[in-house]
Amino acid sequence: MNETPSRPRAEIDLAALRANVRALRARAPRSAFMAVVKADAYGHGMVPCARAAKEAGADWLGVATPGEALALRAAGLEGPLMCWLWTPGGPWRQGIEAELDMSVSAIWALDEVTAAAREAGRAARIQLKADTGLGRSGCQPADWPELVEEALRAEAEGLVLVTGLWSHFACADEPGHPSIALQLDRFREMTAYAEERGVRPEVRHIANSPATLTLPESHFDLVRPGIAMYGVSPSAEIGVPADFGLRPVMTLAAPLALVKDVPAGHGVSYGHQYVTQGRTTLGLVPLGYGDGVPRHASGTGPVLVAGKPRTVAGRIAMDQFVVDLGGDEPPVGSEAVLFGPGDKGEPTAEDWARAAGTIAYEIVTRVGARVERVHLGETPPPGE
Ligand SMILES: *Cc1c(COP(=O)(O)O)cnc(C)c1O
Repeated sequence: MNETPSRPRAEIDLAALRANVRALRARAPRSAFMAVVKADAYGHGMVPCARAAKEAGADWLGVATPGEALALRAAGLEGPLMCWLWTPGGPWRQGIEAELDMSVSAIWALDEVTAAAREAGRAARIQLKADTGLGRSGCQPADWPELVEEALRAEAEGLVLVTGLWSHFACADEPGHPSIALQLDRFREMTAYAEERGVRPEVRHIANSPATLTLPESHFDLVRPGIAMYGVSPSAEIGVPADFGLRPVMTLAAPLALVKDVPAGHGVSYGHQYVTQGRTTLGLVPLGYGDGVPRHASGTGPVLVAGKPRTVAGRIAMDQFVVDLGGDEPPVGSEAVLFGPGDKGEPTAEDWARAAGTIAYEIVTRVGARVERVHLGETPPPGE
């Protein structure tokens, strides 16, 4: 036999990612585009996805942690790069030297970043974050005047450059939710205040994926989509990816590791939560919760096995789970597809989210480090 060995893997269709970036950019034609590639690009592989997004016209990259941002720089990604989740100790100095746009929500962070700028002998690029209602990070309206004044003072001393004013939505995935209009009003007020006091931002931004897809008035100078770029819908209320010309980027699949006959009344997997009704065949899928397959989908997760829709039988274990093949005997090594674009009959990440009682963001993002990422459609570096 001379076949390519198949193994558990997440195939990442970079051509689909590029097309998704172009489709999203077309929805916000007057705004710059920040490709959000935090959390290993929602499980899709940070560096290849960042490169592909930039090839398709993304102007900015966005991540949560300084570690993520510095890893992008170490991999050679240049250009505007924003990083928003800082804790005491930074590393602010490295952030300044890597020319990151660093989010500041509070005076403690402004103090630390200005001290680092003094040491470095150069200005830090900072973006002031307003809490317009999310109630997570960002500066409360009552504390905003002080943060703006202190930032302007540091700017006058040449320690910082305030490059952006920004915020984040709480309920943009529920179109029409009353908090959306309230947050937009507050964002306009808080940015107007800062600009009246003398802040000259390069960019003002608040739109995540659902807002990029459904709320043009939220696009301002820049949009910041994450999940939609990976071809996954932010919520059922927003719609399915195809409604917006988006295509899922990740396919999670594995070869069957075993196919066997079992008698009626046979318990399957830990706890015997599934018992065979009659004589049947079982297929073993070598992926489990150690690979990010949610254990909450035990007994409910959908899988396409050798072209037929099946359901997880019994508990999902750390490394593997079982499907009842109902007497079929596909050869060992046959493909089990957990999710993908859906056009060959395979389930989608949204289907798994429903089966596990979670959101599709979590399904793709939690695919574990043990699962090989196979990036398809990578552009070779120049000279190769
Ligand atoms: C994750 C994140 C985004 C992207 O959100 P999506 O819903 O995936 O588009 C944008 N902005 C911030 C601050 C984020 O944390």
